[in-house]
Amino acid sequence: MLRKCPICELNYIHGNETMCRVCAAERSVRRTAPAVDEVVMCSECGEKPALPGRDLCEDCLKEQKRQANLEVLADKVRADEAEDPLEEDITEPADED
Ligand SMILES: [Zn+2]
Ligand SMILES: [Zn+2]
Repeated sequence: MLRKCPICELNYIHGNETMCRVCAAERSVRRTAPAVDEVVMCSECGEKPALPGRDLCEDCLKEQKRQANLEVLADKVRADEAEDPLEEDITEPADED
């Protein structure tokens, strides 16, 4: 025997069920859906969980840092070229692969 789902009052449920499948699915989604501060997948590679408070995984953060360093270096080089031609702590970008 069928009655209406007490939650959505749209779908019918069987006598021994407490809610329709739609509502049950919605609830389980809500229960398992991560809160904003829980595990978020890396927005860069989408394959690894991002580090807490970040939107990138460890690998991508490292890569981002590396890129940032390269950019800083590049800026430094440009700035140095514009002003002083030489500065000691400029290192060559290591083996690009
Ligand atoms: Zn329902
Ligand atoms: Zn990543």
